[in-house]
Amino acid sequence: MSDMQRAITILGATGSIGASTLDVVARHSDRFRVHALTAHTNTGLLIRQCLRFRPRYAVVGTPEGAARVREALHDKNCRTEVMTGPEALEQVASDPAADTVVAAIVGAAGLSATMAAVNSGKRVLLANKEALVMAGPLFMAAVGSSGAELLPLDSEHNAIFQCLPRNFSHAGLTDNGVRRVLLTASGGPFRDTPLEELRSVTPAQACAHPNWSMGRKISVDSATMMNKGLELIEACWLFDIPGSQVEVVLHPQSIIHSMVEYVDGSVVAQLGNPDMRTPIAFALDYPHRIDAGVEPLDLVRVGHLDFQRPDSTRFPCLRLAYEALKAGGSASVVLNAANEVAVAAFLESGLGFTDIPVVIEETLAGCASGSLRTMGDVLDADSEARRVARAALQRHAGGPG
Ligand code: NAD
Ligand code: MG
Repeated sequence: MSDMQRAITILGATGSIGASTLDVVARHSDRFRVHALTAHTNTGLLIRQCLRFRPRYAVVGTPEGAARVREALHDKNCRTEVMTGPEALEQVASDPAADTVVAAIVGAAGLSATMAAVNSGKRVLLANKEALVMAGPLFMAAVGSSGAELLPLDSEHNAIFQCLPRNFSHAGLTDNGVRRVLLTASGGPFRDTPLEELRSVTPAQACAHPNWSMGRKISVDSATMMNKGLELIEACWLFDIPGSQVEVVLHPQSIIHSMVEYVDGSVVAQLGNPDMRTPIAFALDYPHRIDAGVEPLDLVRVGHLDFQRPDSTRFPCLRLAYEALKAGGSASVVLNAANEVAVAAFLESGLGFTDIPVVIEETLAGCASGSLRTMGDVLDADSEARRVARAALQRHAGGPG
């Protein structure tokens, strides 16, 4: 593959991860070309991306949006074929003409296209952690049977991947001498905010992450630490390790992106400036290392690296994720769906920040647990959980009347 140009499809091209991916791709036009780009509503940015990268296909969330993009591209003699709808997303995700798919749609909305990429045996660069949290066992079984090459973009999981022995066996990490995985977390913008002030924090404050610039949903997840909860579940599926062997460590500087502890006492860490272009570049041309445009790490300027245990009173979402993981079956689907509903209500309709974990906990209590044998089971559990979560929202001030 190293002598060939890779053809890349980016699902969620207009988001934070999508834009960072295109930034890396643009630095290496000899190695990569863009096959397809998808966007939900940001047609202005999608048009600019198409004019710059000239993909074969573009997919837009609505027919009206697609018409707008089609017209703008036509005016500039750009021959990108513009499509719309969920089938179009799955089509570009599984198109044999692309070898690499970047799964960077946010939330459950990205599940079916990500699964389509996995089922067609692509190199899949996974940012859409929600897909793996929802469908863990089916997702990993599909990776096994299709021969897809799954490379994590999430900075922590990319770090763990880098700290593991090359060709580590999926027959359980203990066979590889691993004792524990140490998942680092910044603690987000409210790590030191007095607890009594958390109730009234605003979406703008929650989205102002101290170290990373990201989409709004994951920024709120970082503030509640549900992001770390989702990442815990993600790590267990990706690396075939039980939750009891994953420890979350607060590390406010976000310089160490995670660590692997071995039975001989060695702890291997991956460090770097907090910039998603590093894991993206690592995965795009794996196993070759390419320039990511990331500023070199100046450890002397960083000065010191701090570590703390996460505070479970401040961050109940982390406990809920450990519990859902332990419960197994559909509990992770419910956790994810309830979180998506609660975060959207916090961002859009005034649900209190501290009511986010309350809504999730009530939803987990209100949903029957079931096993996940098919993707239909996953989707059913997801819609049932959204229904229960919306009912829980109504019981809390600020929920839609
Ligand atoms: P974002 O909100 O910036 O972008 C989301 C993208 O998904 C956009 O391109 C949008 O058009 C598309 N999208 C949204 N809703 C859609 C729908 N219903 N159907 C189709 N497309 C839709 O989000 P982001 O920060 O880039 O995060 C994307 C994913 O990557 C998330 O799962 C997030 O957890 C994960 N992730 C992000 C970061 C980061 O630094 N931003 C780091 C690790 C993991
Ligand atoms: Mg992460």
